[in-house]
Amino acid sequence: MHMAHQITFIGSGFGALSTVHEVRKRDAQADITLIAPLVELHYLPGFIWIPYGLRTRQQFIIPLENFFTRMRVRHVVAEVTGLRDGGRWVDSTAGEVRNDALVIASGGRFIKKLPGIEHAITPCEGIAAAERIRDRLKAMSGGTIAIGFAGNPNEPSAVRGGSMFEFLFGIDEQLKRERRRDKFELVCIIDAIDHGTVVFCNEKRQIILPSSRLFRWVKRGFEIAYLRKYK
Ligand SMILES: Cc1cc2nc3c(=O)[nH]c(=O)nc-3n(C[C@H](O)[C@H](O)[C@H](O)COP(=O)(O)OP(=O)(O)OC[C@H]3O[C@@H](n4cnc5c(N)ncnc54)[C@H](O)[C@@H]3O)c2cc1C
Repeated sequence: MHMAHQITFIGSGFGALSTVHEVRKRDAQADITLIAPLVELHYLPGFIWIPYGLRTRQQFIIPLENFFTRMRVRHVVAEVTGLRDGGRWVDSTAGEVRNDALVIASGGRFIKKLPGIEHAITPCEGIAAAERIRDRLKAMSGGTIAIGFAGNPNEPSAVRGGSMFEFLFGIDEQLKRERRRDKFELVCIIDAIDHGTVVFCNEKRQIILPSSRLFRWVKRGFEIAYLRKYK
């Protein structure tokens, strides 16, 4: 008799959800468990508009009840606290979960290796970080704002630095609009040359959005199309 594979996912971001989608397509029998604190997808690429009040947090929270039902996912509402036995057991705030295969997609928020990085606002952490940029910008009467990113030296292709340019140019634009750009110095710190924002990438080709006035609408169109499958 074929035993269903117990596949466990950690996280409810793109990484976990797109893999759930793919696994379910290939294996109708798989027993899928997903451990994440919220029944929500937070759409990080939209956060670039939060600091300027163009969009708000509610617009980037996609409820996942329908997606989980469609994909037959058992959702454990919890935070993962550790792994045991080479990953075969996952400890969480709601107890332990056994698995035959494990997908860890808990995001970039834990990669904080640079000394002093704890003083920076990291947008990868979630919506609250983008709101902190908005509030900090409002509270500042002048000074230097440094914006930067770096890749993971162990996996150089896994970097999405485009958003930091979006914040940089967005802040520049916003300060000009508020007629106080002259009171600020903007510093950009990067360890690579980024050619734009990657919106699609596979082995054969990638689509990179150039900077243009149309950009905002192209990106919003992409967001609507992309998020459809998680609703
Ligand atoms: C401002 C901004 C703009 C971006 N723009 C683009 C873009 O235009 N194009 C592009 O391709 N990429 C873009 N990115 C990058 C993209 O959003 C990320 O690469 C993507 O979100 C990573 O997905 P993920 O699932 O690995 O992690 P995340 O989306 O960070 O999801 C991590 C998940 O893990 C959960 N989690 C964390 N800790 C635990 C725990 N202990 N236990 C259980 N669950 C946990 C979280 O709640 C969350 O659900 C942007 C990122 C940012 C911040």
